This record gives sequence, C-alpha cells and structure tokens, in this order.
Amino acid sequence: MAEDTTACERRQRAHNASLDRAYVQSQLGNAPTLIGTEVLRDALRETWRVMSRTTDGVAYHVDLLVDRRGVVTTNCDCPAASTGKTCWHRGQARLAHRDAVALVNEVGYRIRPKLIPTTAAQLSGKA
Ligand SMILES: [Zn+2]
Repeated sequence: MAEDTTACERRQRAHNASLDRAYVQSQLGNAPTLIGTEVLRDALRETWRVMSRTTDGVAYHVDLLVDRRGVVTTNCDCPAASTGKTCWHRGQARLAHRDAVALVNEVGYRIRPKLIPTTAAQLSGKA
C-alpha cells in the first residue's frame, strides 16, 4: 500500500528544502545580516535582513522568535511567505541563529559559521 504524504511530512520536506536553499545561498556569499535583537518578557527576538537571490538590491526581513522552551518560529515579509510558502529566507535566519552559516552582525562584522552542517537532517536540527 502506498504511503500517504501527510501535511506534516510535506511541511517538513518544504522546511528542509528551504534550509538547503539557504545553505547554498550562504555558500555563494549571500550572508544574512542581524539588524536587531530584543529580549522580550518570554522570548528572544531577532530581526534578520536577507537579500533576494533573484532581484538585486531587494531585501526581505525575517522575524525570528525563540520562546522559553527553545522553540524557534519565523516570519518573513517576502511575497512567497505571504502566500504561505516556506521561503528560504526563513531557513537562512534559522541557520544564522544557530551559527551554521556566515552572517553579518549588528555592528557590521562578518562572522564565520561555527557549525558545518552537511545533511538536510543536520540543517533542520533533526540529527
Ligand atoms: Zn521570505
């Protein structure tokens, strides 16, 4: 019997694909910039600027929240995210948050990755 693809599996696959795409963009030198960090009452909030890979000079902004349990959620202001798609910008913010890709910090220093993930499972934190 063929296995049904559940919504959860589809979401996980889209999530992993966004991390893979983000990782490739990072390898190509497209590093995200941390433009704000805020400690909220019950969460840490980071705001990332991620440059479009298709349109020169266009930047999108990813809001990344880490709650008390360590659960990371993201939102992006790009057109794909507004239609419900899992965009790679959010994946890149997640990877940068984990120091898994090069990033530019709030004062303009370029930081090299501390982690070198090699598989989609590692990228998505499942390994
Ligand atoms: Zn996006």
